[in-house]
Parts: sequence; C-alpha cells; structure tokens
Amino acid sequence: MPEKTARSALVLFSGGQDSATCLAWALDRFDHIETVGFDYGQRHRIELGQRGVIREGITRLFPAWASRLGLDYLLDATVLRSLGETAMTHDVAIETAASGLPTTFVPGRNLLFLTLAGALAIRRGIGVLVGGMCETDFSGYPDCREATMQAQEQTLRLGLDADITIATPLMHIDKAATWQLAHDLGGDALVRLIVEDTHTCYLGTRGARHDWGHGCGTCPACDLRARGWQRWQAGR
Ligand code: ZN
Repeated sequence: MPEKTARSALVLFSGGQDSATCLAWALDRFDHIETVGFDYGQRHRIELGQRGVIREGITRLFPAWASRLGLDYLLDATVLRSLGETAMTHDVAIETAASGLPTTFVPGRNLLFLTLAGALAIRRGIGVLVGGMCETDFSGYPDCREATMQAQEQTLRLGLDADITIATPLMHIDKAATWQLAHDLGGDALVRLIVEDTHTCYLGTRGARHDWGHGCGTCPACDLRARGWQRWQAGR
C-alpha cells in the first residue's frame, strides 16, 4: 500500500460505500486525485447519479481535500450487458448460480474496468489506480481477490509499458472496519456523507433511510452494509 506521496491517483469511483471510502483514502495520501466511473448498464443506475453528489459533498466539507480533487470521467462499459444476463444488469433473481458464484457476479467486470482505468491513467500521467476490491466479505467474486489484482497490475505494467500500481485499501478489512476507516479519515462528517449519499443497494431504488443509509434493507448488499454498520456501532 503506497505511503503518503506527491503522486497522483485515479480512483475507480462507483458511488457506493467502498469506493467513496477509497476516494477519501486517496485524498488523504495523494496530491492530485481524479475519479472514473463506469456505466455498464447496471440496474441500480442511481449509484452513478450519487457520484457527483458525493464529490460535491467532499468538496464542501473538506477544503483541504477539495484542492486535490480533479476531473471525473464516466466511461461506457455497456458492452458487458450484451455478453449475457446477470442480476446486476438484467431482471434476474439474486441467487447462487450453477457455477457456485452469485448471479450478481458480472464476468469480466473488474478486469475490464481496470484495463480501461489503466488506459485512462496513462493518458492522464497517473501511476496509481485505487479500487475498493475486497476479498474479506464479498461473495467470493474472483475478480475482487488480491491474487487477481496482483496479476492485473502485472498485466497493465507489461501491456502499457508503464509504472502502474493498483492500490486496494479495503482488500483485507471487513465492512465494520470500512466504516471505521472512513471515520479515521474524515470523522463524523465523512461517515454522515457516506451514510446519506452513497448507494450500495442492488435494487435501483434509494429505499427507506436506515441508520446505515438508504436501501431496500434485504438484498445481499444492504445486508452486508447493515451488518457492518451494526458491528462497527457495537464496537465503538
Ligand atoms: Zn438492497
């Protein structure tokens, strides 16, 4: 994990809790941060709309970070939707598929995102990609594992002939520790911003406002977020 340096970073920023925490993590460590999001035809498109809300909130609440926050990009990755049905891109039930993976797994998603982010980073003169991938409590998605990230980093280094690093600050922490990390970085103000404005729920609705934020309250993403919040609150 990179120490605080004068380098630039490109944060893969979806508008969810994890990537918002990663954005704060990067703003705390790097002098210049840009963000990139991907439209892959996700059903919960409301997530993409929250990206600007969160960036605006960070700019308003954290003046020291505002001066470091640069451009935002939204890239078209809707080709993923045409490759086959998943619960994230089509009206498919959230369950375990015959492959053993949940139907929320979108094959190739993170690999494509990191390839596109790497190509954008080269254009922008940025050497560090920051992503919220986590192998601790995320359904066993193979494209969230550390081994995959290390291999992808090596692929980008070779294929782009550039000194690219992939930083994944959440890789080995659970959702309770992710809430704690947000608090360590930005205190109650950042936690409130993440609770109110990030979108994690797999369903395309903001839903009811729970103490851990908006969402349906029952899908796997809401369940993970809620249980992490409750463990964090219980441990404070
Ligand atoms: Zn939900």
